[in-house]
Amino acid sequence: MQKTLIILKPDCVQRRLAGEIIARFEAKGLRIAALKLIQVDRALGEKHYAEHAGKPFFEGLIDFITGGPVVVGVLEGNEAISVVRSMLGATNGVAAAPGTIRGDFSISKQNNLVHGSDSPESATREIALWFKPGEVVDYTVAGAQWVFDGA
Ligand code: GDP
Ligand code: MG
Repeated sequence: MQKTLIILKPDCVQRRLAGEIIARFEAKGLRIAALKLIQVDRALGEKHYAEHAGKPFFEGLIDFITGGPVVVGVLEGNEAISVVRSMLGATNGVAAAPGTIRGDFSISKQNNLVHGSDSPESATREIALWFKPGEVVDYTVAGAQWVFDGA
């Protein structure tokens, strides 16, 4: 089973879409392994988005991610990293396909509601950046065998 980091960004929290979007991930069959609402400071925002440092949108992106509270979580499931990325859709909400989270709720390049780790290496780095080891909880969800049979 794979773990991935999600961030419900400030636009998602402010638009009161956090519950609806978490419900999509749960309905897909992903298990919530960690979840918390926090105010991000610039240092954490800059570490999270380090790969974009120097790009023209970087300062605005840090203003955005620190501009209100976020809900950050860890989801676990079969192929969770690519499953979540597919559910998010393209980065730009204008281009994102209907049926995806960004396609259904965003018309912006920046304000695209949710972050999801893009690779196993990113997931490992990001989970360690946002959560202490004890905050990520292992437990078995009732009926898990009906969600994923191992095939
Ligand atoms: P993601 O992996 O799909 O989230 O996209 P990226 O890693 O390319 O970019 C990280 C985040 O920066 C995106 O989710 C957007 O919030 C923001 N972003 C990306 N590209 C642009 C851009 O061209 N302009 C602006 N203003 N923000 C952007
Ligand atoms: Mg990215």
